[in-house]
Amino acid sequence: TLTAHQDLLDGLDPEQRIAVTAPRGPLCVLAGAGTGKTRTVTRRIAHLISSGHVSAGQVLAVTFTNRAAGEMRTRLRELSASGVADPSAGLVQARTFHAASMRQLRYFWPNVVGDTPWKLLDRKFPIVRQAAHQARAATDPDSLRDLAAEIEWSKASLIAADDYAAVVGEIGRDTPAPPDIFAAVYRNYEQIKVAENTMLLDFDDLLIFTAAALEDNDSVAEEFRDRYRCFLVDEYQDVTPLQQRVLDAWLGDRDDLTVVGDANQTIYSFTGASPKNLLNFSRTYPDATMVRLVRDYRSTPQVVALANEVIGAATGRIAGMKLELIGQRPDGPEPEFVEFDDEQAEAKSIAHRITALIRSGVSASEIAILFRINAQSEVYEQALSEAGIPFQVRGGEGFFRRTEIVQALAALRAAGDRDDLPADATVDRLVKAVLAPLGLTQTAPAGQQARERWESLRALESLANDLAALEPEPTLANVVRELHTRAQSRQPPVMDGVTLASLHAAKGLEWDAVFLAGLTEGTLPISHSLGDRDGTGSIEPIEEERRLFYVGVTRAREYLTLSWALSRNAGGRKTRKPSRFVTPLLPQNTTATTPRKKKRIPANLTAGGQELFDKLKEWRLETSRELAVPAFVVFTDATLTAIAAKAPKTDAELVAVPGIGAAKLERF
Ligand code: ATP
Ligand code: MG
Repeated sequence: TLTAHQDLLDGLDPEQRIAVTAPRGPLCVLAGAGTGKTRTVTRRIAHLISSGHVSAGQVLAVTFTNRAAGEMRTRLRELSASGVADPSAGLVQARTFHAASMRQLRYFWPNVVGDTPWKLLDRKFPIVRQAAHQARAATDPDSLRDLAAEIEWSKASLIAADDYAAVVGEIGRDTPAPPDIFAAVYRNYEQIKVAENTMLLDFDDLLIFTAAALEDNDSVAEEFRDRYRCFLVDEYQDVTPLQQRVLDAWLGDRDDLTVVGDANQTIYSFTGASPKNLLNFSRTYPDATMVRLVRDYRSTPQVVALANEVIGAATGRIAGMKLELIGQRPDGPEPEFVEFDDEQAEAKSIAHRITALIRSGVSASEIAILFRINAQSEVYEQALSEAGIPFQVRGGEGFFRRTEIVQALAALRAAGDRDDLPADATVDRLVKAVLAPLGLTQTAPAGQQARERWESLRALESLANDLAALEPEPTLANVVRELHTRAQSRQPPVMDGVTLASLHAAKGLEWDAVFLAGLTEGTLPISHSLGDRDGTGSIEPIEEERRLFYVGVTRAREYLTLSWALSRNAGGRKTRKPSRFVTPLLPQNTTATTPRKKKRIPANLTAGGQELFDKLKEWRLETSRELAVPAFVVFTDATLTAIAAKAPKTDAELVAVPGIGAAKLERF
């Protein structure tokens, strides 16, 4: 093994070698994107084992996604298989915090809790609903999602229900319900889980129980610490207080801990994660080995220069940590900036460019389209499908598989199935019709989940409008048929296709060619990062958006294309501005735009009917309060013509729910 471990230092620069060969004990690698942090962790593991410092079974490596953990295991297996590392290195446990905790808990449970069995709670909504109901909080699906997310945030931040109100008051946090009501929901939720014969543990509980088992039970702690002796954490900038607590419990008073991270890639603050443990590492461990890496091995100097410019403009809490990257690769093409009239043109152009890249020899699996929110993926899925380019969607299901889209399509189909659609009823209004009860309100709702859902529905609405514009006979039925054909013709995801991913899901990964798409104000930075919602004037939300942009830019090895569209719909009004992160980067000659397409302007429904208006308002109130299942109106005997005649012209929300007619409502 002694000769073998020399090979392990091949392909490492002097600083990386220092990190790989540092003696066991606290080690921190603080370095920018693409500098080889993940490579260094992997090699360090292999080196420690191959040189006999530790056995493979004593090592626990933690990363943040299953995919990253899998990749680390693969790299270790490759190092052993090729004889570079000791054969046992391939057996090292590389897991997420959750997977590692779950495994430990299985083992320790009888010693810690006793005979009561536990079960992983994978569907928490019924319990959140019950908890919310008991606390008289809202129980509509969007509220439930936001309550569930807030419970997750509280647990990851180590905030107990009793302390919640005080803490959020102090930090000025936006809460999904009044703090005392939320605290009651949270408390109920925890009680309902343990009140069963089987203890139900959610994902956060796996970590909480693991930490508690080690903290409160000396024999458990002793056994565990005898077994595991060497800990390594990748992407340490996004560790939550709860994950840190688990890590501390694993370590006890030992300090054999390697962490690597980049404060400038902190992008999960909304889950409670914080780079402070990374930035304070040398204070926590005064004798830690500190290593900085500045050479960027991933990207061409052109991409690196852009990345430096992006992060160079950062301000705020983490900005003191700016690290200038130095590109190591040969020159490549200049990053391209492309502006379009509308999203469809943007997507088509990207598909076109991807086709050209693939023809020129770039493999599809080495290409990614990255965007800020999952709702953006639809237009790219479509463009790639049309161009016959295989793709996979990461970190989320494909657009047409999303719950709200499945519901919306069912609702639209029910509406479209009516054959007596009048000629003057425009598809646009019908769609708004049908989609309003599902959450397509005029303006974006508060709450992250509600907003994502709303974005998806808006994307569907805009797609329906575009299809209507293309249809020779634009009835709702025809448009719905077309939507269904699209949903069904979507290719199944393929492993080696082009990757579609949100920026959050792209962390740690790299591709030869990266398209950063939809770079407009309100999308990146996302609209809810712009307002001063907590009244503290904090710039942190927008700085997190900038870091997200930085993460995106630094995923590209060679080709980087940044694009945006000035309107959402084909032929729509230009209402969008390029992202504030992009404009300072623009070279003089922004590539010209594509020609505009004509769009059919929907005719207005005609005026009428105070009575109907009141009914609709009533109905809307009711749905938003009570119906936890998708609800929509179907057309019964009232024809759409009648609706069109009655609907007050001025009220956009009203025409969003046609079919109410003689007030025969049906719910699904
Ligand atoms: P991120 O911050 O995005 O997670 P990272 O710092 O973890 O990036 P790696 O993914 O480890 O970076 O490395 C980036 C790329 O550079 C990888 O393709 C890796 O194989 C390569 N690389 C790392 N170090 C070297 C080196 N010394 N020589 C050549 N290539 C290297
Ligand atoms: Mg990495």
